[in-house]
Amino acid sequence: MAYILEKKNLSNFLTALGTEYQVLAPVKRGEYTQFEALTANEELALDDAHNTRVPPKALFLPMSETLMSYRPNGRAEMAALADEKRVAFGMRPCDAQAVALLDTVFEAEDYNDPYWRQRRDNTLVFGLGCNQPCASCFCNSVESGPFSTLGQEVTLTDLGDAYYLQLNDPKAEGLLEGLPKASPQQESEAQAIQKQAAESMPAPFKTAEVKAELDANFNSAFWSEVSAACLGCGICTFLCPTCFCFDIVDEVQRSERVRNWDTCMFRVYSHETSGHNPRPTKRERTRQRVMHKFSYWLDHADQIGCTGCGRCVRYCPVGIDIRAIVRKAADLPLEVAHAG
Ligand code: SF4
Ligand code: SF4
Repeated sequence: MAYILEKKNLSNFLTALGTEYQVLAPVKRGEYTQFEALTANEELALDDAHNTRVPPKALFLPMSETLMSYRPNGRAEMAALADEKRVAFGMRPCDAQAVALLDTVFEAEDYNDPYWRQRRDNTLVFGLGCNQPCASCFCNSVESGPFSTLGQEVTLTDLGDAYYLQLNDPKAEGLLEGLPKASPQQESEAQAIQKQAAESMPAPFKTAEVKAELDANFNSAFWSEVSAACLGCGICTFLCPTCFCFDIVDEVQRSERVRNWDTCMFRVYSHETSGHNPRPTKRERTRQRVMHKFSYWLDHADQIGCTGCGRCVRYCPVGIDIRAIVRKAADLPLEVAHAG
């Protein structure tokens, strides 16, 4: 089922949604866009070429959140779970797919994170396909595409004066009530735009099969070469929609236990209490970042842990390009003597 939302009616549509849901959408902040709760008169930034700088994983896994508080009587009290119903509007397909990937981490059979779960249960995702994928995007190389519908209850296609809204999950049907149904002509128009967007991207490169090369070359000098310029700033991981490293600390003065984003690109992240560090240099840390995405995620969830959003390519201050690393890895020999 598909519906049409005229752009001139977008503001009224979102205002009506706002009576029942908190509406989160990309807004312009300086040079970038970011997801924020929409307030009256706030202008949406749906036409920005790039997706938001900070990925919308932050809507479900905040950069910093209190997990529990300690009471003077020595008892601990779990932080209240967010119970507000929300709509995340205008999330790009790579980011929606990343959130769905993170479900496999935070909703695993033997570990179910109540903070993540509650936010996911309370949030409907309206994805916005990419009519013109950016030069740094490579979703088509990681089993996805500019109009992938994964992780979205509704997917929007921009038709110019209107949005074509494809309903993917009946959970969101009630929110589209009152909108006119799309005509067969509008459906064809949307399909043509989606096809054109997919065809405009560079040819996909080999990713799923690269796992064998990466595994065989765990100890290769390749890792020293590709990590040589890395500054260890962590930007590639903090801005990655599928990275989820965190640290849990007790903030003694606040009497709170807090979870904060962390990154495996920092030396201290893997520093063990014994003093041993299994990833002492940028060589091992870069290897971890790339292998986690293109090898370990396949072991854990049978999916590549990168959605091709291109943020790490765009924002790395020294231009380290994960696409180049993966392409290069695909040419590595399968049998490598442990070169050290
Ligand atoms: S953003 Fe670039 S320099 Fe910074 S940690 Fe990542 S790869 Fe290294
Ligand atoms: S590894 Fe890079 S391109 Fe892939 S999802 Fe993370 S930030 Fe995006």
